[in-house]
Amino acid sequence: MTMLEGRTGSWEVVIGLEVHAQVISNAKLFSGASTAFGAEPNSQVSIVDAAMPGMLPVVNERCLEQAVRTGLALGAKINLHSVFARKNYFYPDLPQGYQISQFEEPIVGEGEVLVDMEDGVTKTVGIERLHLEQDAGKSLHDQSPAKSFIDLNRSGVSLMEIVSKPDMRSAEEASAYVSKLRSILRYIGSCDGNMQEGSLRCDANVSVRKPGDELGTRCEIKNVNSLRFLRQAIEYEAARQVEIIEDGGTINQETRLYDSGKGETRSMRSKEEAHDYRYFPDPDLLPITLTPEFVETQRAALPELPDEKKNRFIADYGLSIYDAGVLVAERDTADFFESVANGRDAKIVANWVISELFGRLNKAGKDINDSPVSAHSLGGLIDLIADDTISGSIAKKVFDDMFETGKEAAIIVKEQGLEQVTDTGAIEGIIDQVIADNPDKVAEYRGGKDKLFGFFVGQTMRASQGKANPGMVNDLLRKKLDG
Ligand code: ADP
Ligand code: MG
Repeated sequence: MTMLEGRTGSWEVVIGLEVHAQVISNAKLFSGASTAFGAEPNSQVSIVDAAMPGMLPVVNERCLEQAVRTGLALGAKINLHSVFARKNYFYPDLPQGYQISQFEEPIVGEGEVLVDMEDGVTKTVGIERLHLEQDAGKSLHDQSPAKSFIDLNRSGVSLMEIVSKPDMRSAEEASAYVSKLRSILRYIGSCDGNMQEGSLRCDANVSVRKPGDELGTRCEIKNVNSLRFLRQAIEYEAARQVEIIEDGGTINQETRLYDSGKGETRSMRSKEEAHDYRYFPDPDLLPITLTPEFVETQRAALPELPDEKKNRFIADYGLSIYDAGVLVAERDTADFFESVANGRDAKIVANWVISELFGRLNKAGKDINDSPVSAHSLGGLIDLIADDTISGSIAKKVFDDMFETGKEAAIIVKEQGLEQVTDTGAIEGIIDQVIADNPDKVAEYRGGKDKLFGFFVGQTMRASQGKANPGMVNDLLRKKLDG
């Protein structure tokens, strides 16, 4: 457990997250308007989204399906009976004067997420609930010095609010939890997880306590839209609370904002000013009733989830927990790996994908789907190593070229004459030259300086431009120097 050291000893940080995930659906939660990102302002607004008098919301079944699929993927209880409620508040970009959400009876109840930490420890984070709600519109204050504008394109878009239990104990755990949740949502295609575009954002509830004490008073940091900011905001906030308590003060339950420019959280509104939303069941909408058959159909149609895939990769391919975890984080990456691994040494393939391919993709800012080296081409390269056509070190150079040019490994090897030299006579010729060029080193070696063997290997490899078969170089050198 990570502790925060204060003047009065260690403090435990307690975190619970509310994640807002935009549902992937063509139409909004209660209207047929499009949800596409980046359209002209106010071009995707139906009379429901604009809250024209007399409008009637009609629930989009696809959004219910997505919420149920997500609940199942989180191992959560699906509530066959749930209710949409009005959450009443005024906001300029909320034309209805209330948000349709779920309160006492959400569509999904308790579940859990397994979070993999870097030290190989798996942590279970409880899910309290998942409910569906409408997103609000967006106020634009930076378009004119004198006016504010409102874009209602996002108004009515379906969100899933996923509320965790206060189970996390460090900023790293919170961030690992959001990554894992994001991975699950992307696997099942219920949310694209794009934090920059705001499709996934979270509110972090943070409190501190002395180990063994009751939960402390929490502050809620609103609308954090990157994992780095999430970690920074939690760390800053926990340290702020410890300092206040150690100075003899108390924490006021309040809503705070994280200012990423200044690296600090600041108060937005206190509990005294907290909203009383006057929730009540929306009279325009019937309660949602799901049949057990519907739920089972959704369950049966779920794809293999990250944890299942990871266990399979460990069991079937003999991968390490770490490598399996890295490969399954994204479904496309896992698929890429599997298509290369098919019929090849899986550990070698995992190594190439993780160390070489990911490294270069990261540097180039590219996604696996835009990889200049296809799964088929990478497989071709690995085959050339396996059948001794090229050495492992030459293969790295070939891979660089493949990444640059998109050419097949075999073609690059041909064009540049990179085939491994396995001809005993040719290697012996090079060794003889190296021995002739270094008479004093040979004498030292034969006089007992064993360490010099590596020098001869290096010289021979260099003289062969890296193309000599390293195993043969070793054997022949031993024969010539020792024999
Ligand atoms: P609200 O709707 O007022 O935000 P909830 O009961 O829905 O309140 O809780 C919101 C989040 O706060 C949950 O994720 C929960 O785990 C977390 N939470 C509750 N108590 C604490 C606490 N003492 N410290 C940290 N997080 C907490
Ligand atoms: Mg809250």
